[in-house]
Amino acid sequence: MGSSEDKADKPRDFVRKLIDKELAEGRHDEIVTRFPPEPNGYLHIGHAKSICLNFGLAGEFGGRCHLRFDDTNPSAEDTEYVDSIKADIAWLGFDWGQHLYFASDYYQRLYDCAEELVRRGRAYVCELSAEQVREQRGTLTRPGSDSPWRERSAEESLDLFRRMRAGEFEAGSHTLRARIDMASPRIVMRDPVLYRIQRASHHRTGDDWCVYPMYDLAHCLSDSFEGITHSLCTLEFADNKALYDWVLDALDSECHPQQIEFARLNLTHTVMSKRVLRGLVEEGKVSGWDDPRMPTLSGMRRRGYPPAAIRNFCLGVGVTRSDNTVQYEQLEHELRQELNSSATRLMGVLDPLKLTITNWPEGKVEQLTAINNPEDESAGTRELPFSGSLYVEREDFMEDPPRKFFRLSPGREVRLRYAYFVTCNEVVKNDEGEVIELLCSYDPATRGGDSPDGRKVKATLHWVSAEQSVPARVRLYDRLFTAENPLAQVAASGKDGNKIGDAINPDSLLELSQSRLEPAAADLKAGVTCQFERKGYFCLDPDSTADLPVFNRTVTLRDAWARLRK
Ligand code: ATP
Ligand code: MG
Repeated sequence: MGSSEDKADKPRDFVRKLIDKELAEGRHDEIVTRFPPEPNGYLHIGHAKSICLNFGLAGEFGGRCHLRFDDTNPSAEDTEYVDSIKADIAWLGFDWGQHLYFASDYYQRLYDCAEELVRRGRAYVCELSAEQVREQRGTLTRPGSDSPWRERSAEESLDLFRRMRAGEFEAGSHTLRARIDMASPRIVMRDPVLYRIQRASHHRTGDDWCVYPMYDLAHCLSDSFEGITHSLCTLEFADNKALYDWVLDALDSECHPQQIEFARLNLTHTVMSKRVLRGLVEEGKVSGWDDPRMPTLSGMRRRGYPPAAIRNFCLGVGVTRSDNTVQYEQLEHELRQELNSSATRLMGVLDPLKLTITNWPEGKVEQLTAINNPEDESAGTRELPFSGSLYVEREDFMEDPPRKFFRLSPGREVRLRYAYFVTCNEVVKNDEGEVIELLCSYDPATRGGDSPDGRKVKATLHWVSAEQSVPARVRLYDRLFTAENPLAQVAASGKDGNKIGDAINPDSLLELSQSRLEPAAADLKAGVTCQFERKGYFCLDPDSTADLPVFNRTVTLRDAWARLRK
């Protein structure tokens, strides 16, 4: 990945340092990592951090990274999510090659391992309900109590486990539990459930199974089956490491991967939980998983974020073991860095006001030359039609301007970008008193935007030629949530977390339906982000029709991060 090489001189994080050391000690032939999503929702930017880390390590150390779907909960999972996750990872720029796996591919092997645990006296079938298991688990300060089924024989447990698998029992009536220690200071070690009965069709194995392994059994064993060397997960799993190691030790597993925890990505003004995001989708609070306001990779793609910006952001955030929250502005800063160098410039008037040049030769259309990207000479130039009938941005005119407003107002001269100096002579209003047209004169000697007599103007405005422009709809986005930490805000207001939908910023989407763009906009391709000069970066939305393109604003031009960083 080109962009990661660009930053290869960055200080090495604790994971990379550890791998350097282990390789120097000759402990591995090859570094093998995995990204293990559960297909119960679309990926968000937090997942991108994990993807960039796991695939990044494999790339840097010449190893491999597996994509493994952790699909052990049939009731929440679906192939729609499998497909979207694959598409998102590929879009981000990573390739799992031949190494696509599903925990469900291992169901028989996992089941066999569970039987082996029973035979070894390390697991037993328990007949307590989920409720009773919870009650008997104890707390951080109080030990749990033993299940009455804990001492049943291996033969009896084996028979019951097989009957669980054969479908003889109701869901919830029996579970397979590890026999560890009900007084362990780590609650996860208090005889955790390893298998449960679940009557749900699985998206890949259909009705073949009615017992499903729990995460703590399936995850470590899947890692072990695949020869993973470094199993990276977020800090919440720190306590589960003891169980991860216990399962592999109890089975004398040949391959014992190393679980390493790192801090999850938190980002201001949004939420990073598939469950909460799914709620927003299901309640119709957003238009879908790919709503351009969503922190999902599909939302960001639709919004016009280039994948390189997300990769650079993940690289910049780094990998640490301390929890923190990253400012959304930092992501937008990476976005602008990337787009500033790559995006083609165009002229687009979002909220048009008619401007008529009264001394322009009737019917004349002139072709001017505009620069496609001042940051990249190879992007070349294009022709821009100019005429006596133009549109300018409504907010670039004020009839009665305050002292610091230098744009158009009565009697004021300004430059039209790439074109001429124009002076506003007269203002036309409708019956309601609203300004509907500006009557201006132009100075033919200022063609290209410079005055021969050296006189200065204080503003340069963007514009389009009315007849030669194309109509468009434009969607302007703001933060999905105004609060920095929306979940905390909802909790503080005494509402439960499911009310997060009500905390959405009502101004997070503003649609303008009368925008006009220069003709070159008609040739823009989906998935390419361009700059509308002075207004920000924009990309074509799939809602576009042949008659009316729809553009999403990816981000504005102003960078607040530089200021915040100080
Ligand atoms: P969510 O809470 O959003 O549902 P999850 O952890 O349940 O996330 P998984 O599909 O299990 O979602 O996650 C796949 C991988 O992505 C895991 O290894 C997980 O640790 C990692 N991951 C999830 N969220 C983040 C985050 N915010 N920052 C870094 N890594 C994350
Ligand atoms: Mg999870």
